[in-house]
Amino acid sequence: MTADQNVSTGGLGTAVVIGASIAGSSAAAALSSRFAKVIVIDRDTLPAEPTKRRGVPHSGQFHILSAGGRLDLEKLFPGLTEDLTAAGVPYADPTAVFQYGSKFGWFPRHSSDMRILLGTRRYLEWYLRGRAGKLGNVSYLQRTPAKGLVIEDGRAVGVEVQDLDTKELRVIRGDLIVDASGRPSIAPDWFAAAGYAKPVETVINARWGYATTYVRVPEGWDPGWSAFYVGPTVNGEGYAATRGASMWRQEDNLMVVTAQGCAGDLPPSDVDGFLDFISSFGSTEFRDLIEQYGRVSDIEAWQNTSNRLRDWSKLEERPENFVVVGDAAAAFNPIYGQGMTVAARSARTLESSLTDFLLDAAPEASLDGFAERFQNDLQKVIEPSWMFSTTSDYGIPGVEIDGVTLDSVKSPESEYADRVIALATEDESISLKFMETINMVRSTEWLGDEELRDRVLADWDRLGNLRRTDVPTNA
Ligand SMILES: Cc1cc2nc3c(=O)[nH]c(=O)nc-3n(C[C@H](O)[C@H](O)[C@H](O)COP(=O)(O)OP(=O)(O)OC[C@H]3O[C@@H](n4cnc5c(N)ncnc54)[C@H](O)[C@@H]3O)c2cc1C
Repeated sequence: MTADQNVSTGGLGTAVVIGASIAGSSAAAALSSRFAKVIVIDRDTLPAEPTKRRGVPHSGQFHILSAGGRLDLEKLFPGLTEDLTAAGVPYADPTAVFQYGSKFGWFPRHSSDMRILLGTRRYLEWYLRGRAGKLGNVSYLQRTPAKGLVIEDGRAVGVEVQDLDTKELRVIRGDLIVDASGRPSIAPDWFAAAGYAKPVETVINARWGYATTYVRVPEGWDPGWSAFYVGPTVNGEGYAATRGASMWRQEDNLMVVTAQGCAGDLPPSDVDGFLDFISSFGSTEFRDLIEQYGRVSDIEAWQNTSNRLRDWSKLEERPENFVVVGDAAAAFNPIYGQGMTVAARSARTLESSLTDFLLDAAPEASLDGFAERFQNDLQKVIEPSWMFSTTSDYGIPGVEIDGVTLDSVKSPESEYADRVIALATEDESISLKFMETINMVRSTEWLGDEELRDRVLADWDRLGNLRRTDVPTNA
């Protein structure tokens, strides 16, 4: 069932969703077909326009929605692609329009069936909230932070909230409580306060940082690409080893320009430092663009980029009727562009797990057992993305694992995956599979293909040292 469809609910009363961002609005759309009422609460004032807001301080940073994520959101919000393209959000084949510089050199440009939307994150989030809010049974309560989880007889039965205008505390009761409050989620503390064990938490931090600004280009401006990305070479020399940048075209002829550094080499937010940073690793394109057209925003830095997994699936005991989705469950290093897709998939998993659960349950049954079942289903969605981000980050010098600093832990798998990336710079069919994988429409299974493995092993040293400097010109 999808947004815009108001259907009979199968007898479930109220769902309360904490957080009105990507995961929260997606979850609201997914639950609206099953619950009579869905109440989404947020601590922020929710803007009527697609502007920045306090509760999502990272929304000004570069955000790319994968091709797979677009398809997931389209299922929850049919017509999303059409609406966003009509609003001027660029829509393109990433393999054709991306000038993609991997750590082994430029990828070839070709064509594929994938399509991505290159809009700003604040526009996407605003759009999703608007769509979910138009469903007859979904309502948003702004300036209403969740302060605690109300648990009675082993079941979550409500959320204690504060009205920021009156300062009054009250309880919003619900039959299912969904935590979509992002990285700041304090649900583990709520569990501890109620005498439950907290979920096991794993933090892997390769000390990446961003600094972002925006440029407005003239109508019709066409440099032959829509997106330009240069990643750190990691094993390379000088600044190129730890620095890179990205830029691409968004709605309103905006170009987002983001400097990225890893291993603690963090881009600064002062103008001179930023300009020096984006011209220090061998590419002139980023600085040239800013100097030619000027900035239309300040430069904002962001450094909270660790991968953080709270495993809500492996709990001996839990209150019933409480589930965790989106960044609150698993937050990824944003450089790999997976968070919004996993948030959308969390919502779709909520929908499918609930459907399966209700099919299996006796008609009079409660939701007892659903929370555990859902978190197990969600963990299967999270795991491949977690493996992808963390395997890459393990190889970065000084990576911190649960607070312990290591030189880097290059595993045989990451050494092998690196060489496949090197091969992709030379072979379109490998490049396509890699791009499909980072766009989350293909699993990583193909990496185990025997023929590919033999090819990589036979060429191990050359691929490991490859540095292609020739730039692909066109699709
Ligand atoms: C710098 C950066 C760049 C990123 N780039 C990408 C990218 O390129 N591609 C991609 O797919 N993902 C990217 N991500 C990840 C992406 O932003 C998130 O995965 C995605 O937004 C899903 O977030 P969410 O809805 O779970 O949480 P959030 O977007 O963090 O939203 C949480 C919401 O909960 C509210 N809230 C918090 N606490 C409370 C409370 N107690 N009571 C009520 N409300 C509360 C907040 O106000 C907010 O509205 C990036 C992240 C960062 C930090």
